Amino acid sequence: MDLLLKESAKIIKKSNYTIAFTGAGISVESGVPPFRGEHGLWNKYNPEVLDLGYYLDHADECWVYIREIFYDFFADAKPNPAHLVLAEMEQKGLLQAVITQNIDNLHYEAGNKMVHEFHGNSKKLKCLKCEAVYDVSEVDLKSLPPKCKNDGEILKPDFIFFGEGIPHEAYSNSFAAAEKAEVCLIIGSTGEVTPASYVPRIAKQSGATIIEINPEESSFTSQITDIHLKGKASEVMTKLAAELF
Ligand code: NAD
Repeated sequence: MDLLLKESAKIIKKSNYTIAFTGAGISVESGVPPFRGEHGLWNKYNPEVLDLGYYLDHADECWVYIREIFYDFFADAKPNPAHLVLAEMEQKGLLQAVITQNIDNLHYEAGNKMVHEFHGNSKKLKCLKCEAVYDVSEVDLKSLPPKCKNDGEILKPDFIFFGEGIPHEAYSNSFAAAEKAEVCLIIGSTGEVTPASYVPRIAKQSGATIIEINPEESSFTSQITDIHLKGKASEVMTKLAAELF
């Protein structure tokens, strides 16, 4: 592992354009559970509550679970050392973009500025009729469902539900960054969610070295990963930082 960490740091320092592609695993140590696996959210909740078609017909029912998952459980989550190392890498010019599948806002809270949120952000709520966007802090979630101040329509969390398209800007910025990448870190992703999982694959096709951080193997590992730093994100990123800075 030590040799792999040293080798990874050397490659990152030489790179002119490094990106990080992050998934639910990077936030596990912040207390945000992933969807899948032993402690995954889908063992407890029915994914239907995040299906756009179902939600549009049953917003009142869905909002009870949405509030519990995203606004009660996740409310106190703070960036962990893995998020903080990525922010420091960006400040020091060693990281040019974060492309995240996460909707927890933790990369921004850690201090990263160049973040492409492929699946949106749970801290914002949107009116599907007039498209007004509210910060969750402005909205009273005690009485459900939350309504738009302009037209009384039900607000929807501004992250994508199953059956929704990827936000256009995040999509094009993410793939543009992948095409330029000389190094792509993949942190805490199974690689099973498309089209997000194409981002590191495009980076690889464009010549990037792929460094993966995950305690388990993912669908990327045998296909595109060059260096697998096996371990939890915060532990591995802290050790990587010691080699980088
Ligand atoms: P996933 O839930 O499918 O898989 C999580 C991955 O993280 C697994 O490969 C697992 O081995 C790894 N992992 C677990 N603990 C880890 C740790 N401490 N350090 C590093 N890796 C660890 O995640 P996914 O591939 O990102 O896809 C799930 C989808 O669910 C995403 O599209 C995302 O939008 C959404 N999601 C987001 C959040 C969040 O915002 N934090 C949480 C749950 C799900």
